[in-house]
Amino acid sequence: MLSTYHTHSLFCDGKLMPEDYILAAISKGFTAIGISSHAPVCFETDWTMKPEKMDEYLYSVLALKEKYRGKLQIYAGLETDYYPGCRDYRKYPGLDYTIGSVHFIHHQQSNQYMALDGTPDEFIKTRDIVFDGEVRCLIEKYYTLLIEMVQNQTPDILGHLDIIKKNNKGNRFFNEFEPWYREAVEQALDVIQKQNVIVEINTGGISRGYTTELYPSDWILAAMRQRDIPVMLNSDAHHPDTIDVYYPQAREKLKSAGYTQQRILLDNSWQNVPL
Ligand SMILES: [Zn+2]
Ligand SMILES: [Zn+2]
Repeated sequence: MLSTYHTHSLFCDGKLMPEDYILAAISKGFTAIGISSHAPVCFETDWTMKPEKMDEYLYSVLALKEKYRGKLQIYAGLETDYYPGCRDYRKYPGLDYTIGSVHFIHHQQSNQYMALDGTPDEFIKTRDIVFDGEVRCLIEKYYTLLIEMVQNQTPDILGHLDIIKKNNKGNRFFNEFEPWYREAVEQALDVIQKQNVIVEINTGGISRGYTTELYPSDWILAAMRQRDIPVMLNSDAHHPDTIDVYYPQAREKLKSAGYTQQRILLDNSWQNVPL
């Protein structure tokens, strides 16, 4: 059964309209798709949805649900950002689900929101300005924010759990196998397990050429399986051509970690289906 609940259209930083993703999903034999624009944030960006677009966005997904009824299940989602003082969109009318992600960190001295998963130069800037050059402090702060989000604003789905490794090809900034890193991740997994949040297996880092590994890494998948944390395969597609990129390989990785099913939104309820 093919699906993705993580797609970005022209309502935020994706390349085409939601309907283009829907047509691609139908042609590839998908059962369900979720459209998940980046939720508006309280500061300027060039990749989140403008607040005045929210209602148009939800109405257009609703109209598409009707238009393609019987051909494809369509859901209205949002990828919401967690940062101190962020708006809670979870009960927003017309929304079927949220993907909770951490992309920014607030720098109090300058009152700026600094990127955690931008370009390598942005990553270095955040590390040097906010954390005095200490990459370990940056990463531990990332996982602390993620834990706070899962506890205080529990999303349906956790977005790209270890996106903090986006610029870490060839261990440029840190080594995932150092004990302090493993500990930070495992603390997050304990809270995720307690809150029963679905963790997405996100192929977007690979499809956009940032990483050679999935979000999350193989060793984290195994640690998730030990805790019986539910998973969902998502593509984080910014173009209709990439809605199923790397899916066969990701499915194999999940099976190697011991997973036999994923949890998805089907017939308007969360269900476990075979991988
Ligand atoms: Zn994201
Ligand atoms: Zn995304």
